[in-house]
Amino acid sequence: MDNAQIADCFSLLAKLMDIHGENSFKAKSYTNTAFTVDKLAVQISTLPTESLFAIKGIGESGGKKIIELLETGELAALNQLIEKTPDGILEMLNIKGIGPKKIAAIWKEMEIESVGELLYACKENRLKLYKGFGEKTQQNVIETIEYYLKSKGSFLFSQVEALIFPVKSFFEKVFYPHKFQVVGAYARQLESMDAIEIVVDNSLATIEEILTGVSDFELIEKNSDDLLYNTIGSLKIRVYGCDKSPFMKQVFVKSSSLEFEEFFTKNFPAINYTKCENEEAVFEQAGIRFIPAFKREKESIIEFAQHNELPPLLQLSDIKGIIHCHSDWSDGNNTIEQMATAAIAKGLEYIVISDHSKSAFYAKGLNEERIQQQHLYIDELNKKLAPFKIFKSIESDILNDGSLDYSNAILSTFDLVIASIHSNLKMPLERSMMRLLNAIENPYTTILGHMTGRLLLSRKGYPVDHRKIIDACAANNVVVELNAHPSRLDIDWRHIDYALEKNVLLSIDPDAHSIEGFDDVRYGILVAQKTMLSKHQNLSSFGVKELETYLDKKKVSN
Ligand SMILES: [Zn+2]
Ligand SMILES: [Zn+2]
Repeated sequence: MDNAQIADCFSLLAKLMDIHGENSFKAKSYTNTAFTVDKLAVQISTLPTESLFAIKGIGESGGKKIIELLETGELAALNQLIEKTPDGILEMLNIKGIGPKKIAAIWKEMEIESVGELLYACKENRLKLYKGFGEKTQQNVIETIEYYLKSKGSFLFSQVEALIFPVKSFFEKVFYPHKFQVVGAYARQLESMDAIEIVVDNSLATIEEILTGVSDFELIEKNSDDLLYNTIGSLKIRVYGCDKSPFMKQVFVKSSSLEFEEFFTKNFPAINYTKCENEEAVFEQAGIRFIPAFKREKESIIEFAQHNELPPLLQLSDIKGIIHCHSDWSDGNNTIEQMATAAIAKGLEYIVISDHSKSAFYAKGLNEERIQQQHLYIDELNKKLAPFKIFKSIESDILNDGSLDYSNAILSTFDLVIASIHSNLKMPLERSMMRLLNAIENPYTTILGHMTGRLLLSRKGYPVDHRKIIDACAANNVVVELNAHPSRLDIDWRHIDYALEKNVLLSIDPDAHSIEGFDDVRYGILVAQKTMLSKHQNLSSFGVKELETYLDKKKVSN
């Protein structure tokens, strides 16, 4: 073990002691030991052990630990602390700009346990509200984490989307005149992916030859059907050749789920792919309606296409208002008036302001008095901006027992209530179900917000029995949110068709914390397009009058 490795162990030990609030004097002395060892001109392992204690900056306890390290290769005290620390917290130590004290606050006070969650909190402006953090730290943390995550290999749809254009231009240039097409997770509009997949109408050998020596294209895997490259920013690109199958067959197969592809092939075994100019031609030969790549998931869709029963595709233009947004009254960036004006400019009919509720102290949640003030202010704005309408709402925290954090008297003053879980996210299924079901049964709950609390690629979310929750929403006339933030996309689209079967309304909501956040609605649309959801079953596709009528009815039935 060399000096640098020994120093790293001491430095980590000191940091973890600070995070866990242990003897700070001792922690400081281990930091000194790390510094001293790192700067030492001789390798410590070559020195007689007795001489260690005489070195200034090492001391009695440091010396003993160095001997332990040299003899066993590890430090018991360090191992114990590592065991007590969530992986995500250990990972945070790699992020420059936040030291152990800050990490301790992030973990213990904000209940954040992973780097992805931390990034999300920064983007929601939550970090700067804490003592000692501030706007600048928050911005630094965002930049460092984004860089860090990029190097980890998996990407959100929204991140890949930003890169797809340059990738396509590059392929156009190097493979001309051969055809190519983006397939796989991106074509299927999946929420995240670990590679961009592309079929090129060429042999694998030629593809490899063409890409050899191209800067930023490093071949990391060679398979019988594809080549995997690592490119700029750790983005992976998987390239399929057409050695064994014609181009259009490869495109079709690689942009369908296995279930879909097998069922299709069983039903239409005689398709001649060499005669297909495009994907539409494949379905023409089969004699059924065209099914786009993003809908090729379940085999049942083939039957719908056979009977001409595909619903009209939900489009961005079907969104009539922004439901679920946060203003500067809680943790948003913009004033309510700015948000309303931006929505008007987009041709929308309304926004639903749902700031955080009083339990969400970290997000400047509104107490009863502030709610009354906000409602008076919204009344004024509504007079000024009519016929555009600002609906009064709140994102009310679902507490540990499943109750909402205001009295019924206050809850009844909102046009609609979104109920969401934001605290104590680590819980067993039984507890999460109890909290959710109680909230759904609350007569004031209009919409169940981000059902599982997941953050894609960073937080799994609490366990949920989706079917039971959907059944309860059906029984209590509660709308299920499809939170459209690209890191959430929660409810998972895989459960939407079941909700539709049960006649439950969905609501594609951006959970916007700024005007720019409105645009996230599009990510909700993209995953919703994978399902049978039509504009008639999406609350944010209701016009202003339709929404008013819906909410009036809900109030009467209460
Ligand atoms: Zn929320
Ligand atoms: Zn929210």
